[in-house]
Amino acid sequence: MTQEKNRQKTITIPLLPLRGIVVFPHMILHFDVGREKSINALEEAMMKDQRIFLAAQKDPALDEPGQDDIYTVGTISKIKQLLRLPGDTIRVLVEGLERAKTLEYVSDDPFYKVTVRECPSPKHLARDSETEALVRQVVSYFEKYAKLTNRISPDTTFTLSTMEDYARLSDVIAANMVIKLEDKQRILNEISPRKRMEKLLKILVNEIEILEVEKNINRKVRQQIDKSQREYYLREQLKAIQNELGEGGQQSDEIEEYREKIKKLGLPADAENKALKEVDRLSKMHPSSAESGVIRTYLDWIIDLPWNNKTEENLNLSDAEKILDEDHYGLTKVKERMVEYLAIRKLKNSLKGPIICLAGPPGVGKTSIVRSIAKALNRKYVRMSLGGVRDEAEIRGHRRTYVGAMPGRIIKAIKQAGSKNPLILLDEIDKMANDFRGDPASALLEVLDAEQNKEFHDHYLDMPFDLSDVMFITTANYKDAIPRPLLDRMEVIDISGYVEEEKVQIAKRHLIPKQIKNHGLKTSELRFDESAIRDIINYYTREAGVRNLERQISTVCRKVARQIVSGQKKSVRITSKNLDKYLGRRIFLYDKANEKDEVGIVRGLAWTPVGGDTLCIEVNLMPGEGAMELTGQLGDVMKESARIARSYVRSIAEMIGIDKDFHKKYDMHIHVPEGAIPKDGPSAGITLATAMISALTNIPAKRNVAMTGEITLRGKVLPIGGIKEKVLAAHRAGIDTILFPKDNEKDIEEIPENVVEKLNLIPVSSMDQVIKHTLVRFPVSENRNKTEEEKKDVHIDVQKAKDEAAVGVEH
Ligand code: ADP
Repeated sequence: MTQEKNRQKTITIPLLPLRGIVVFPHMILHFDVGREKSINALEEAMMKDQRIFLAAQKDPALDEPGQDDIYTVGTISKIKQLLRLPGDTIRVLVEGLERAKTLEYVSDDPFYKVTVRECPSPKHLARDSETEALVRQVVSYFEKYAKLTNRISPDTTFTLSTMEDYARLSDVIAANMVIKLEDKQRILNEISPRKRMEKLLKILVNEIEILEVEKNINRKVRQQIDKSQREYYLREQLKAIQNELGEGGQQSDEIEEYREKIKKLGLPADAENKALKEVDRLSKMHPSSAESGVIRTYLDWIIDLPWNNKTEENLNLSDAEKILDEDHYGLTKVKERMVEYLAIRKLKNSLKGPIICLAGPPGVGKTSIVRSIAKALNRKYVRMSLGGVRDEAEIRGHRRTYVGAMPGRIIKAIKQAGSKNPLILLDEIDKMANDFRGDPASALLEVLDAEQNKEFHDHYLDMPFDLSDVMFITTANYKDAIPRPLLDRMEVIDISGYVEEEKVQIAKRHLIPKQIKNHGLKTSELRFDESAIRDIINYYTREAGVRNLERQISTVCRKVARQIVSGQKKSVRITSKNLDKYLGRRIFLYDKANEKDEVGIVRGLAWTPVGGDTLCIEVNLMPGEGAMELTGQLGDVMKESARIARSYVRSIAEMIGIDKDFHKKYDMHIHVPEGAIPKDGPSAGITLATAMISALTNIPAKRNVAMTGEITLRGKVLPIGGIKEKVLAAHRAGIDTILFPKDNEKDIEEIPENVVEKLNLIPVSSMDQVIKHTLVRFPVSENRNKTEEEKKDVHIDVQKAKDEAAVGVEH
């Protein structure tokens, strides 16, 4: 005990405040000293016994620590070496000797000098079992700590495990640990070795725990980093390889560009994910592979579609009316319907309702009025021709697995429009066909159905596109040819052909000014007389619409432009006299009425896509065995009409006084000129029957009568279509009496009055009436009251007469 006390000496010694380190007894370390006060302290120590008191600063950042800023417990150390470094710095190597505690500061200048009391640890400590356990635990924890930090050499840990002096042991362990300054100082502060051990154990346990958590976190972070680093690394490598091959560079920029563009589109979430996935796929591909080309085209399609672009619809009724009237003459039904549409649209913000279908012959302005409608509504206009579309994929596109796959026409039209609310004209919907490749009509049904088209699914895009803002208008030449389910959904507005008067007005108001402008002429340089316009209409065109009329006017303009440019003329007036100089000889000479009444020749009326026409039906009888020959490119329906007509004539044979076995004794040849033009339809039925009766009875048909109507086996006359065109054609041909089915009477209202006034329009409901009005006299059986014997005589006469007639007609 006395020994102990004796050893607790007090000494006065220079103090060097340490920054950020705690020196323990038995520890050798070096540090650099730069502060003047510290250097002075070192010098003082060197001049004496090289001992110096090292105590840590509480705050390492302080340059000039006061007495309170320095911990009281420190270590008396021996300076082993001094090394002057450039720039007034001294590197010292010290060895910790003994713990000591500051009792008092003796002086502050030129260095700190303190009186300290040494606090040595007892040298030979006995170990009871508890201490032993404690020591072992500390050692084993330290080994664990060493492993976790990976900073302490296995030699150190081994030396420690064999160290007997546990007071020293605790100091060495504390010196080797990387812990907070305060923790180190706390251990240094502890004079009792046993308590020191306990504190150390606590700190160790705590540190290990923290280290383990850290390790865990590190592992997880590393896993993640590893993965992304791996990808990054591989990608960089790929880039490098591509660069080497001369393919690199733009690919990654391009991918980024795609990503950004897609994100900007504002697609529905599903669609966006899908598109981005494709971009990912693209990024992993060789840029010049075929597959990557396919993906690029696909992405370009998606990017180019107007997913959210719209034009603002003009719902101003009077504006729209004005635009429609400016561009087109007549077409009142269409114009009215459009104004109604606008009114409803204004009241109700929805496009639901039937789809409008404009039906009529070519050139009547269907397409061009729809273009004006788009202009009036301020919607983008796209025309989509359905003529010859026979494959569902043309509407809906091909799946991308298909080589050369493309989106369908609807999506193409939307892209072309560049807005999601265009007006799409589905042109020639009646010309759509269907075959084994699927039915385009049913795909179109989905497009037109307001309930379904919000999510229109194109096979190629493979993501829904909203068509509910699109306005659809369709056109057709024959509404009967429109697939039934489509027709049910449409509201058909018939646009029949124009009469001469209307054509004159259209030419004057629209076609001529338009063509003059198109050819760079001035209105003062070219004028058309009305008579010239009428001549163009009648002799240079044969059509229901005005397309050829426009073309002929354009021809005139072209020739006049040439004359004016070459200086031949200053201005030109087109009259009916000089018209042929510009258009050449008249092209069409109308089928004029026959010169005289003839047997077996009757005039029918036909409806063709280019308007109405008259057609002669000729019937010749020749002795034979009852064959019936039909020529003139007659369609099946027309051939059937001929058979029905013959059966009907057989059924009334006796009444009209002809041989009831004529079908066995004569061959009948029916010809409908002009032979090269195909003809079909049931409307020639009554004409065929009348021509047969005329030929069989040898009674001539009146030259100024024409007729149209379907016939039944019992001789009833059924209604047919296209009355207006047919009547106009008859009028042109100079025919004045027209027989038409009684049930068609309502259609007569559509014919311009000035035409109706000049004609004798006779509604008929049975063949009796037809025969009465057509043949020069009504055939009555001359032998109704005669005996069978007498009938035979008459019959022979009739037959003879007919044979002669047949020969006559043949010439
Ligand atoms: P469709 O589509 O019915 O076949 P278009 O629309 O192609 O006919 O018309 C042919 C030409 O005739 C166009 O130049 C059009 O402007 C003109 N046209 C037709 N009808 C009229 C009309 N009623 N008023 C003015 N121009 C017309």
